[in-house]
Amino acid sequence: MVTAEIIAVGSELLTPSRLETNSLFLTERLNSLGILVERKVVVGDREATLSESLRAALQRSQLVLLTGGLGPTNDDLTREAVAACLGRELRQDPEILNHLERLYERFGFQMAENNRRQALVPEGAEVLPNPKGTAPGLFLREGEALVFLLPGPPRELQPMVDDQVLPRLTRYLPIRRRFVRHLRVASLAESAVDARVESLYKAQPQVETTILSSLGIIDLFFTWCGRDDEALASRHLDRLVQQVRQELGSSVFTDRQEELEVVVGRQLLERGLRLATAESCTGGLIGKLLTDVDGSSRYFLGGVVCYSNELKQNLLGVRPETLERYGAVSAETASELAQGVCRLTGSEIGLSVTGIAGPTGGSDEKPVGTVYFGLSSKGQAQVKHRRIPGDRESVRMRAARFALDWLRTELEAFVS
Ligand code: AMP
Ligand code: MG
Repeated sequence: MVTAEIIAVGSELLTPSRLETNSLFLTERLNSLGILVERKVVVGDREATLSESLRAALQRSQLVLLTGGLGPTNDDLTREAVAACLGRELRQDPEILNHLERLYERFGFQMAENNRRQALVPEGAEVLPNPKGTAPGLFLREGEALVFLLPGPPRELQPMVDDQVLPRLTRYLPIRRRFVRHLRVASLAESAVDARVESLYKAQPQVETTILSSLGIIDLFFTWCGRDDEALASRHLDRLVQQVRQELGSSVFTDRQEELEVVVGRQLLERGLRLATAESCTGGLIGKLLTDVDGSSRYFLGGVVCYSNELKQNLLGVRPETLERYGAVSAETASELAQGVCRLTGSEIGLSVTGIAGPTGGSDEKPVGTVYFGLSSKGQAQVKHRRIPGDRESVRMRAARFALDWLRTELEAFVS
């Protein structure tokens, strides 16, 4: 297995104002070739730090990618540091120089002396053209290792990686391809998912299984690394995916890279149903998620953020006795909210959420995280109750996703 290290160069990347993103792009592209990133570092614009990082990386890894510090200013010293570190002389490349001069001429500038540094090439290096900027990239082979020097600006780096770097990786490295399957699950705990599928993926150790969880959604990735044998990969992956799907049943909401709200939208559209929401503790988050999807006006009528008791009562028709007797956070209120929003909007389906997002407002009887959900259709309402862990933001996002996922499973069974 080939492993890579990334060295991102730039003092600005060590401040809170600039985010280092080139390594994310690089990692994605490297992973697609089955190359794992073993380590990445961000170093400031200092020759000693850069050389030290490069030397250490070359002792461990067959592939080292440096980004940034190829520009014309004095703080850009990647070219010089790498040459010094590898004991290679720098020579002015007349072709690059010529290209730079013409470039500056075209923009009506006199080329500053500083820019000539961008035409310096370490002995034995190959020049990687940069159609989006001035600084070319560089490619060196150092013993068994490959070293790439790439420009910092993402819009210059990205095409250079696709056009210049990846073809060289497949030429010089024993590349194995990665084949990935992805399942997404909602409304289950990560530990519960793992417990149910553990024996299945452990029985297939050739497939690498990764389970990630984020606020109510669990992502399962199944990866096969191998030479270019897609049929073999598919055989292994499809068998495991099918077993996992069977075990998790309808908790799996998609095998594509799509959000819950996209799946729900598709279901509503297919069934010719419209949805309206009455949201208390989620404050419109369900509406936000639904309307993140382009074209959602075809099935989402809109919603009421009924945060106060007055609005629950006056706009959505929750009875004063219900609020008094059971409280705003109750199954009864959730039910009346869902029915009320159908009545108000004429929607076929009403979805409601009322709960305590915290951190204050909890009680022994109804602690923080207590959430009631209502789902109304054909004049009937069902309710559900959940205790949701986490801080305010987590409770709200998990509640919104739980509501959408409940709607999804109901829609699966829905017959008009
Ligand atoms: P440089 O090539 O070091 O002059 O970088 C030019 C610009 O590219 C910097 O000011 C950053 O805005 C951007 N940049 C450099 N390195 C990175 C990185 N690793 N991730 C994201 N942006 C970067
Ligand atoms: Mg820089």
